[in-house]
Amino acid sequence: MTRAFTFPGLSTRVVFGSGTLPQVGEEVGRLGRSRALVLSTPHQRAEAEALAQQLGPLAAGVFPGAVMHTPVEVTDDALAAFRDAGADCVVALGGGSTVGLAKAIATRTGADQVVIPTTYAGSEMTDILGETQGGGKTTRRDPSIRPEVVIYDVDLTLSLPLGLTVTSALNALAHAMEALYAPDRNPVIEAMAREALPAIRDALPRLARDLGDREARAEALYGAWCCSTALGYVSMALHHKLAHTLGGSFNLPHADTHAILLPHTTAFNEAAVPGLLAPFAEAFGGSSAGGGLWDFAKGAGAPLRLKDLGLTEADLDRAARIAVRNPYANPRPFGQDDIRKLLQAAWEGRRPGG
Ligand code: NAD
Repeated sequence: MTRAFTFPGLSTRVVFGSGTLPQVGEEVGRLGRSRALVLSTPHQRAEAEALAQQLGPLAAGVFPGAVMHTPVEVTDDALAAFRDAGADCVVALGGGSTVGLAKAIATRTGADQVVIPTTYAGSEMTDILGETQGGGKTTRRDPSIRPEVVIYDVDLTLSLPLGLTVTSALNALAHAMEALYAPDRNPVIEAMAREALPAIRDALPRLARDLGDREARAEALYGAWCCSTALGYVSMALHHKLAHTLGGSFNLPHADTHAILLPHTTAFNEAAVPGLLAPFAEAFGGSSAGGGLWDFAKGAGAPLRLKDLGLTEADLDRAARIAVRNPYANPRPFGQDDIRKLLQAAWEGRRPGG
């Protein structure tokens, strides 16, 4: 077959290393901005305040109110803080929840974003924003959402607890998985998706032994960057749709939900495109990508059952209904019954493929 693809180019400036946090001020200056509102969750408030201190006159204030799934009411409060402080840009320090808030402010105000991710969730390189309102989650893509600068500082990930280290890394792998069969994939994104697999596979067992292993932390964060880039430049399909349904409509924790679904969605699509998912089968050692991922997740101590997240068996019917409401591309066609079966297996924690 003749090779054909479109590569849109990458538009975010990336600084990656250890001890890079002091470069935030310089990056704000490069953007021509001078008043940054520093964002965090309540949990990372002290780190955000220390960063504001470090930024000195470049800091316009701190808003430590980010929460999971970017509720519009929190964004409204943050916008009021942004305006009251006379801010002209945002600096987000934290995981996907904090990055989500930065994006929500940026797309409404035109503010530039300097983002410092401290988990492996991978929101930082993307033009995607999911927001919740009235019990539902809506997701959209727009160039105004993508951060201008991302600063990865490996040191900031040393405090990530083991549970979130594992589930967040599996969340990252989900982006690589769907990138490998995305209809708009291109060689750069495919290479980045493949690059992430050994980095994360080899880092997690080392981190399980020693969360302070800087080399392993650097590899995991490097893998997360690759995965985030994959998520940011091609379309996602069934896996992300299900994760967003369960997160947005049932308020399940984001990283755990991705971690539990991943082997099941991988196995489901592997039946249609085994060749495209072969890098996963090779990296995770099973005879199948889905089974191999399930074994890897189990070995890493990841949660395996949706029922442990508080989802009831009755919720599965509604989740399957919501997940098929709007059509979207997926390498394997499916109906509501297929999704209901997949969710049942993930709810019980069965190894896909037996
Ligand atoms: P999170 O940002 O909610 O973080 C979970 C908790 O861990 C928070 O309390 C946070 O303060 C804390 N934390 C983060 N980093 C830490 C560290 N290094 N040390 C100690 N504690 C730390 O969780 P997440 O999984 O990173 O992000 C989930 C959210 O991101 C969801 O809302 C999801 O929809 C969104 N997301 C969006 C995209 C996108 O492209 N739009 C991609 C991935 C995730």
